[in-house]
Amino acid sequence: MLKAMTGVGYPLARASYRDIPTYAAETTAAVDLSDNTNLWGAPPAALRALREAPGRTPARYPDRGDPELSERLASYLGIEPAMVLAGCGSDNLLDAAIRAFADPGDRLALPDPSFAMIPIFARLNGVGPVLVPLRQGMRDLELDPERLVATGARIIYLCSPNNPTGTVLERAGIEYVVDRAPGVVILDAAYAEFAGTDHASLLRRSDRLLIARTMSKAFGLAGLRIGYVAGSPALRAEVARSLGPYMVSAYAERAAVAALQEDVPWVQARVAEVVTNRTRLSEALTRGGRFTVFASGANFLLARPAPSLPGVRDIARQLRDRGIAVRVLPDLPVVGSALRITIGPWPMLAQLLAAVSEVG
Ligand SMILES: *Cc1c(COP(=O)(O)O)cnc(C)c1O
Repeated sequence: MLKAMTGVGYPLARASYRDIPTYAAETTAAVDLSDNTNLWGAPPAALRALREAPGRTPARYPDRGDPELSERLASYLGIEPAMVLAGCGSDNLLDAAIRAFADPGDRLALPDPSFAMIPIFARLNGVGPVLVPLRQGMRDLELDPERLVATGARIIYLCSPNNPTGTVLERAGIEYVVDRAPGVVILDAAYAEFAGTDHASLLRRSDRLLIARTMSKAFGLAGLRIGYVAGSPALRAEVARSLGPYMVSAYAERAAVAALQEDVPWVQARVAEVVTNRTRLSEALTRGGRFTVFASGANFLLARPAPSLPGVRDIARQLRDRGIAVRVLPDLPVVGSALRITIGPWPMLAQLLAAVSEVG
C-alpha cells in the first residue's frame, strides 16, 4: 500500500522527493489475501537449501555474476545465460532499468491502472510518468498501444498479466509497442506462470525489449528477494551497470538455484490449483450480481462491488474484522473502486466467501 507523506518532511531532503509516497506493507491478518504471494508457501528444495549451510562462507561476497543462477534462469526461460541478470527482487531491477535507459527529465509511459510502484520508481529517478488509461474493450480491459507509442516516451512500461487488473495483454498490442517504441520497452511479467505466456520469441523479435520476472509470486520465494530481467546482452549490460554488484545474497542464490533445479513441478502444480480456484472464486463472487470480476491471467482477481454493497474501504474493514486482508483499490481509472484478492488454497477462499456473505 502506498502511503502519502504528510507534514512538511525533513528540510534537508531532495525537494523533488517531498511528495513521493512511501510503501507501507499491510498489517498481518490470519488470512492474508493482499499481496499476491504464494499462499501454499515456499517450495521444498528451496527450503532444504536454506536449512543447509550456504556452502561458501558468508564472510565472502556471493558468486561473481552468479553464473549458476543465470544459467538456471536462462534455461527456465529457454534463452542464453548472457541475456539474464538477477537482482534483489524485480523491483530492484525495474528501478535500475529506468535509471539505465532514461535521463532525469525524460518520460516513462505506462498503462493506467498498472503496477503502482512504477510511477514511484520513475520519479525517484527524476523521470516523469505519463499515464495512458487502459480501454474497456468488447470483453475485457485492453491496452492502448497507439497512445502509448504516441507519447514518444523514452521508456514504455507494460505489465502482463497486469497488476492490479489481471489483464493478459494481447500479443498484437505488445508487438505493436515493441516494433514502434522510440526507446526501451519494459515488459513486467511477474505473473507469467499463471497465464502460461512465453516471451522468449518476443525477445528474439527486438533488442529493445527487457522482460522483468520474479521468484516472489509463483515460486513462493518473496522473502528471499530474487528477481531477474531478460533482454539482449547489450541491454542486459546496461541494467547491470546501473544495478551495481552483489544484489543477490549467497543464501538467496543457493535457494533459487535449488528451486529452479528441483521445484518446477511443485510450482506447476500450485499454478494449476490457482487456475482452478481462480475460476471457482470468480463464479462465486459474480453469483447474484454482487461483484463484477475482471478476466484475470494472474494469481489474483480484481472485483468491483455492486452499488448495493458498501464501499470498498468499508467492505475491507468488515473482512479485516473477520481476520481476512484484501487489497483496497479506491478510484482506479476505467475500473472504479475495487478489491484485489490473491488466489490461494480453497479453504482460505471459502473463508473469504463466508465473510463476504456477511458483509452488509
Ligand atoms: C509483485 C510484483 C513485482 C515485484 O516483485 P519482487 O520481485 O518481489 O520485487 C514486480 N512487478 C509486479 C507487477 C508485481 O506485482
